[in-house]
Amino acid sequence: MSDSINDLSPLRDVISRHDLRAKKSFGQNFLLDLNLTARIARVPGDITNAHIYEVGPGPGGLTRGLLAEGAKSVTAVEMDSRCLPALAEINEASNGRLTVIEGNALDMDEPSLMGLKPGETAHIVANLPYNVGTQLLIKWMTLESWLPWYSSLSLMFQREVADRIVAAPGSKAYGRLSVLVQWRAKAKIAVKVPAAAFTPAPKVNSAVVHIVPTEPMNPDVKLRDLEQLVARAFGQRRKMLRASLKGLDVAAIELLERAEIEPTARAEEISVEDFVRMARHYRLILDAR
Ligand code: SAM
Repeated sequence: MSDSINDLSPLRDVISRHDLRAKKSFGQNFLLDLNLTARIARVPGDITNAHIYEVGPGPGGLTRGLLAEGAKSVTAVEMDSRCLPALAEINEASNGRLTVIEGNALDMDEPSLMGLKPGETAHIVANLPYNVGTQLLIKWMTLESWLPWYSSLSLMFQREVADRIVAAPGSKAYGRLSVLVQWRAKAKIAVKVPAAAFTPAPKVNSAVVHIVPTEPMNPDVKLRDLEQLVARAFGQRRKMLRASLKGLDVAAIELLERAEIEPTARAEEISVEDFVRMARHYRLILDAR
C-alpha cells in the first residue's frame, strides 16, 4: 500500500490547525520548508528500510522527510504533548511507520525503546534545542559499548558548536568536544542552515553535523582516562601541558615524555592522536604501579 506523506497539508496549516505556536520553554524553532527538511533527511545517506530515532519532531517537518525517504520505522520522542495530534496524522499517512513517545529524550534508553534486536542499528536524526543537543551528543559519544547501537548521528547545532565538533588542532574552536567526538567517529558539517530558515528565527545560524562512529584510534584507551586528560588540558587551554596537567595522579612531565609530546605544547596545538596516546600511557603508568 503506498503512503500519502506528500499529500499532507503544508506545515503552516498544520501549525495553525493544531495551534502549535512555538514555545520558548521547549526551545521551539520550527523548520517549515519541506525541501530543507528533505535535504536534512538525506544526510544519513540512503535510509530506505532503515530504523530512525528522532528527537523533538515538533509539528513533524523533518519526520515527514525521513518517512518520505523510505525509512522502515521512525521512533520519535517529543516533550510537547500539543504536537501529538499532528504527528498522529503523519503516522496515518505513512502506514503506521511512525511511533511517537511523549517524554524527555535525556531520560530514554533508546535501543530498548525502539526494540532493536541484537546487531540491529539505527540512525539518529534531530533538530533539537541547542542545550539539549549538546547534552545528548555527550550522552551518545560517551557510551561504553563501541561501536554503539546507532550507525550515524545527524544533528542540528548552533553553528559555533558545530564548528567545535569538527575542529582541527590549532583552531580556536578545537577543544573537548572535538577530541571526544573525533577519537572514535568521523564528523563533518553536512548542511549550513541560516537563522532565517527557522520559525521563529533564532539569533544565531545553525548547521547539521553528520557523525559516523568508527573503531577507536586505540581500542585499549579508556574513555574515562581520555575525558579526564582532555578536561584538564582544555580547562586551562592557554597554559603549557606540563602546567595544565599538574594534579593528575601521574607526574605531568613523565606522562608527556612517555607519550612523546612536548611539555611546552598547549592543549589546542596537539592532535586527537596525541591525546589518545597520552591516555594510553596514563593508564600504562598507573597499571605498572
Ligand atoms: N524537529 C522540529 C522541526 O525541525 O521543525 C522541531 C524542532 S524544535 C527546535 C525542537 C523540538 O524538540 C520541539 O518540538 C520541542 O518541543 C522538542 N524538545 C525540546 N526538548 C526536548 C527533550 N528534552 N526531549 C524531547 N523533545 C524535546
